[in-house]
Amino acid sequence: MTSTMQHVPLGIRRLLEHAVTVYADQKLFTAQPGGDLTEATFAETGANAARLAHALVELGVGQGDRVATLMWNNQEHVEAYYAVPAMGAVLHPLNLRLPGEQIAFVANHAEDKVVIVDHTLLAPVSALLPALKTIEHVIVNSPAGADTDLAAVSAAAGREIGVHDYAQLIAGRPGEFDWPETDENAAAAMCYTSGTTGDPKGVVYSHRSIFLHSMAAVGPAMMGLSQSDRVLAIVPQFHVLAWGLPYIAFYSGVELVLPGPFLQPEPLARMIEKTRLNRASGVPTIWQGLLAHLEANPDIDVSSLKEAVVGGSACPPALMEAYDRLGITLLHAYGMTETSPMVTVARPPAGLTPEQAWPYRLTQGRFVANVAARLVGADGSVLPWDGVSAGELELRGPWIAGGYYGVDDEDKFHDGWLRTGDVGHISPEGYLTLTDRAKDVIKSGGEWISSVQLENLLMAHPAVAEASVIGVPDERWGERPLALVVPRSGAEVSFIELREFLADKIARWQVPERWAVISEVPKTSVGKFDKKRLREQYALGELE
Ligand code: ADP
Repeated sequence: MTSTMQHVPLGIRRLLEHAVTVYADQKLFTAQPGGDLTEATFAETGANAARLAHALVELGVGQGDRVATLMWNNQEHVEAYYAVPAMGAVLHPLNLRLPGEQIAFVANHAEDKVVIVDHTLLAPVSALLPALKTIEHVIVNSPAGADTDLAAVSAAAGREIGVHDYAQLIAGRPGEFDWPETDENAAAAMCYTSGTTGDPKGVVYSHRSIFLHSMAAVGPAMMGLSQSDRVLAIVPQFHVLAWGLPYIAFYSGVELVLPGPFLQPEPLARMIEKTRLNRASGVPTIWQGLLAHLEANPDIDVSSLKEAVVGGSACPPALMEAYDRLGITLLHAYGMTETSPMVTVARPPAGLTPEQAWPYRLTQGRFVANVAARLVGADGSVLPWDGVSAGELELRGPWIAGGYYGVDDEDKFHDGWLRTGDVGHISPEGYLTLTDRAKDVIKSGGEWISSVQLENLLMAHPAVAEASVIGVPDERWGERPLALVVPRSGAEVSFIELREFLADKIARWQVPERWAVISEVPKTSVGKFDKKRLREQYALGELE
């Protein structure tokens, strides 16, 4: 029996049409040099998206063609987020922090036809153009009055390509577009994994997956957003579609503050103060940096900010406690490029006191409806949700990838499940606690040591600003933890004291005997601790 419901494909077009009417006057704010912010309404942004779509059609972009962006978080980037998928093409945000050869690898693999570039990134892009084999047009997003040398970009390519100024290209075109009725399972956007292991791999999101992810993410179990909220979208638009925020905004009417390239603590604090925003999103390192700035400048008024979603890597409990003292709740969430990304959010069950809620807040969060999860042990058996049994997390659902673009990876995807490579346990109420990434787990004498647990404990010590723990080979135990510690400015760390600090919190055999002070933990292109680089840098021999 079939239903009597209408079949209306879910898609980006629907989000756009909804926002430009129902939420026409809601705003996007974009940070500018010097601390000013420009404003645009959703109606204006949507009209520009239509203008951009007309221009892209004229440049020969057709159904399924890839349009790349190399941009910070800004209004024009949001316009591309809508124009490209709504016209039936595929948006491909490139990670501007990757080394040039990886950007070229990714753009060539996706066969990007057009790239829209922020003018501040033009120099590196021009240098890369000869290697970007499939690019036919470059569109440069420059501020009004900027004297961008478009001819130099053409010359740099070494072949015939079109080079256009974004504002001029869209000027005078109609602010409406007859958006096609695209199949909801068609590709809407793609992001590549950041390639911490091997070449980056493409994840292709569908209209349906983005729409459903937006619906779920705004709900009270997840971000809990509405038109009365204003979010600082710190997480980059080139990283898992900024955790879906540009789409969530048009779905729900939530306003966005887009920081552009101004991601240092000082301008971020100023944006909070100026726009009185109440929500935010970002990886732990951003919050760590901002905390030091806020503590050093207690007169900065960030009282409007109530809650911030933190994910991408484990959020140290000490960081949450510090923000609690400022009246800002850090809300832990988990996901990955392959999962659109949101899978869990650590909202405690209702009706608990802050003390009772605390252990729930420390988890990676509770699974959202639509995402099925299972834990798989080393022998392939499916483990119970008993809060103890630890295994690899596998996921299945309408916004979970079932494969990579143009690459077979049978190991990663099997029986319809995505292997996350993350290890942890799940409570009977569905709260996930990750103990490690499978490749970061330290295997000592047949037992596992959680590097994340050690890091969290160390970062709770007053003399420690950052700590990263990696496994290093050991003749007797196979592997032992090496703790790399960044002292707080002006503080002295004593390894003996740190060992004692850990000793009453974990089993004795888990306490590292190898230690080093480093000036900074290297970060990946999306701001996470780069353990691959740490492992390369701290070869065992150097320390013994
Ligand atoms: P990359 O693989 O390059 O880091 P992703 O953003 O896709 O890029 O990373 C996803 C991974 O980040 C997850 O598999 C997990 O290991 C880690 N991660 C994400 N959120 C959290 C979190 N809240 N706690 C711990 N780890 C997290």
